[in-house]
Amino acid sequence: MVQNGHNALVKMCQLQPNGDGRTRQTVANTRKAATARFSNIHSAPKLSRQKHKEPKLDSEESLPKINPSVGGLCGLENIGNTCFMNSALQCLANITAMTQHFDNLFSDSPDDQTVSYAYAHLIKLMWSGENSSVTPRELKHRVNRSAPIFSDNGQQDSQEFINSLLDALHKELKDDSNESIVTQLFSIKTRSTVTCSHCFMPDPNDQSSNFLPLPLPPSSFMSGKHAKQLTLEYLLDDFFKEADLDGDYYCAMCNQITVAKQKSDLCSPMPQVFVIQLKRFTYNNSNDKIDTFIEFPFNNLDLGRYAIAQPSDDSLYDLIAISNHQGSLSSGHYTATARKVNDKWFSFNDQYFEEISSNINRRQIVTNNAYVLVYSKQRNR
Ligand SMILES: [Zn+2]
Repeated sequence: MVQNGHNALVKMCQLQPNGDGRTRQTVANTRKAATARFSNIHSAPKLSRQKHKEPKLDSEESLPKINPSVGGLCGLENIGNTCFMNSALQCLANITAMTQHFDNLFSDSPDDQTVSYAYAHLIKLMWSGENSSVTPRELKHRVNRSAPIFSDNGQQDSQEFINSLLDALHKELKDDSNESIVTQLFSIKTRSTVTCSHCFMPDPNDQSSNFLPLPLPPSSFMSGKHAKQLTLEYLLDDFFKEADLDGDYYCAMCNQITVAKQKSDLCSPMPQVFVIQLKRFTYNNSNDKIDTFIEFPFNNLDLGRYAIAQPSDDSLYDLIAISNHQGSLSSGHYTATARKVNDKWFSFNDQYFEEISSNINRRQIVTNNAYVLVYSKQRNR
């Protein structure tokens, strides 16, 4: 039954936007099927009212209060090829520290035109326990203003949306020292060091980013001796190991054109939330998607081993959310999987959500659709 719902939504996402009437029939049928489906779920927390809500930010209605016991179980309506955004938002909404921050950030201010206010309002509606789904239309509208690539109605990339939203939030919320809740939670500091192979002089270059883009080997890599080695840890080991720098290197120290080695390391402090993008999309002539299956851990991902100075107790991470992409680059569908209270896993498919069976079937969660992995520091989870 779940599969039917998925297929209907995949078809929906493949349709070209053509006004609101286009998929009403499909949506109505899918909704009916999903209502029947969810009435069979016993273990999901009961929502006080099954209703849909669209935030009206300019209304006098006061902001809802967050109800942590419901764990933010709330679907997000698709407003035309927006499953990428819904998938991204479910991942971010599941970061407790971020949700708490935005819960405390604003009081009612209907005139506030910021992305931050729209995000806070949406998160409060999602976490109020009063809505089975909400429509993130106003947030999309405001993110579009700062990142116009999302302003057409085409299918986009969930990681790009996460990045654009975090950039917009950071710009609005940063203090004089360029810090914000975004840098506090997400900032991954890396040092790339190029070492001359003639004089061995290291040339370090520090950078920071809100996520780690991790290259994947092509699907054909799966055959033969590597088949069992494709774990997230393997890819991270590969990413952070020392390797030959492509091409010639001019060393300013010894004034030679020579070759060099390059190595990347993580720097302290390690972020509270570590977002990893599995780079499945190759935007070259072929526009292929890499379907390679990557095994990734739910708990105890040790990222401290990639740090320049081993952090003592701060380096273990647990998985809290996944943005999944199924299908091809041109016509696909995004969903999300999130770990909620009591380590229960839920899948989110636009306005629908459901619990993944309690004797966790790892293969339902760890799939080759996994595209963005959100890890949270264990002690803060
Ligand atoms: Zn040199």
